[in-house]
Amino acid sequence: MRLNPQNTSPSLVGKLIITSSTDPVARGLDYLYGVRCLALDSEMIDVVYDMNNRIPLCAWISEHIDGVNRQLEKYLQACHDCFHPWEQPPIQICAAPIAQGFGIDALCNLQTHPITILIDVGRVVPADWLRLVVHEYAHAHVGFPGHQEQFARSLSHLCLGLGIAPPPRESAIESHLRFYPDCRPTQNPLAFWRGE
Ligand SMILES: [Zn+2]
Repeated sequence: MRLNPQNTSPSLVGKLIITSSTDPVARGLDYLYGVRCLALDSEMIDVVYDMNNRIPLCAWISEHIDGVNRQLEKYLQACHDCFHPWEQPPIQICAAPIAQGFGIDALCNLQTHPITILIDVGRVVPADWLRLVVHEYAHAHVGFPGHQEQFARSLSHLCLGLGIAPPPRESAIESHLRFYPDCRPTQNPLAFWRGE
């Protein structure tokens, strides 16, 4: 998981299925409930309880989430392309707003099959979404949530393949790798999800 420079805490299971409800808000809500099942902890997707934001958010998600996820899938494919086919883990990727209290921009759930990468695209500028995907892909590739040497090797390999500066050797320590590569944060994570 890529920590937002604040704090953390993590806890499954299957493939994201998006229903074809015709009401936009219901469709957005279905999507968010689907993602809740794939997060490390369902409370990470808490906007379903946010009475002030959930209607505009769900309406926006209903209309735009497919496009956002298509973009993330392109980034996922770019990561896959850095490895031989037999080294590419099965991964699904999707975007959703992650509860502020967890202090994370993205996560990789190794307990689901395929592995799930979840990205809060509202938290960093769009030009840096690839960087979030790269970090989480390195976890999926190693099959481990920590930030040790094997993670550093996968991350460096991905960075080199994708034109991102790899983590400097001397700073290849857990506390630094946890936030690598750097991403530019947005001012208000939910603003993106409201379509502002
Ligand atoms: Zn991480």
